[in-house]
Amino acid sequence: MLKLYCWGGVSEQGRSCFLLGDGNGFILLDCGVKRTFTAFKAGEYPQWDVNLLTRIDATFLSHAHEDHCGALPLLTKLGIQRPIYTHHLVVPEVTQSCSAWLQVVDSAGHKKPYEMEHILSLLLNPVGFGEKIAIKNCEIFFNPSGHVPGSAWFDIMWGTKRIIYTGDWCTSSLLFSPPEFSGHADAVVLDGAYGAAVIMQDNIYEQLLGAITATVSKGGSVLLPVPRIGRSQEILVLLNSALKVSVPIYVEAPILAGLRGFLRDPEKSGIKCPAQIVNIGYDEKIKEFHRTSEIPQKGEAIILATDAMGSSGATKELIDRLGISEKNTIIFTGFLYEGTKGEQVLKGAVDGIKARVARFIWKVHPDWKDIEDMLGKIKGDPTVIITHVAREKGDELARLLRQKGVRAIVPRVGEIIDLSSFS
Ligand SMILES: [Zn+2]
Repeated sequence: MLKLYCWGGVSEQGRSCFLLGDGNGFILLDCGVKRTFTAFKAGEYPQWDVNLLTRIDATFLSHAHEDHCGALPLLTKLGIQRPIYTHHLVVPEVTQSCSAWLQVVDSAGHKKPYEMEHILSLLLNPVGFGEKIAIKNCEIFFNPSGHVPGSAWFDIMWGTKRIIYTGDWCTSSLLFSPPEFSGHADAVVLDGAYGAAVIMQDNIYEQLLGAITATVSKGGSVLLPVPRIGRSQEILVLLNSALKVSVPIYVEAPILAGLRGFLRDPEKSGIKCPAQIVNIGYDEKIKEFHRTSEIPQKGEAIILATDAMGSSGATKELIDRLGISEKNTIIFTGFLYEGTKGEQVLKGAVDGIKARVARFIWKVHPDWKDIEDMLGKIKGDPTVIITHVAREKGDELARLLRQKGVRAIVPRVGEIIDLSSFS
């Protein structure tokens, strides 16, 4: 009996982790951490059954955001050393992402969940798009998902069943080609991060450019806390091509290093605008920085720095530095976990912040239109398992799908779904 064990990332955002197996073979799909903090602990990890976990044949990693890969070193710590298959662009990101998570935990004064040695001994196996990995009764195909460089959706053939595991996916990236879904499927494990919302990405571009222009025209500076890979480079492409005001753009070194990395093999990496990326490398407005002390104290500037939550790294310092003046603006562009510095700043709970604070959600997941369009291309009346979204928003999406005659499930953490009855 083929079953999907939902160990995390359902009815919640964070710690995506699923076990798929039929008793003879088991594969793990993603293995992330949820960034939550209490006085006693940092992070929530997948609620796995260790007996089953020790039986996995391999792990398939869709991409290296911490909510998909941050718990992988715990497997090493438990002595579970199995191959981890992921796109070759994602391989170096796993080490970066897991060590960044260790730093976040450490700087918050909590005990580290694992050590660097557990990260460095992960058995990462690079895979290219279009390639297939066969494990016992199962074949897994890697396809680009348009979310970040190298992010994949998995086309899984388990015996006669076809399961689409979307991972995080996006159709409107400025950098990456959109995913292409088609054919007959029995089940779709769907990233539904925005629930039933419809997001007009063009309006977000305008709002973001408008807020930046308004701030720098009045002599202020703008801080954009961003993740190291993905949204950060997309925002840079937008600023480079569409911003009308001429102001230095300070970009933290790892963001530019990531961008250069995309040029190594743009076609195989699904990059759709290599020429634009090359132009950024020659633009005098773009200034690379390694430490915040390299950014001049005086004069207007736009700053792209990590991390996106404002809890560590350059953004933690820059929020304090830019936050003291009402001339400046701090703009968040993504999801903020509760209790992070970014979330506290956004809700006005941090003393001394006089700068304007705004948030425009940069679309990196599918909205309702994308989901409707995607399911329209898939035949066979698949059951849709909604993931990567809080309970209420997931329920709203499920309601809308059911109105269209789609069987939609919003599982809870720990739920086991029998896929053998689906057709
Ligand atoms: Zn992601």
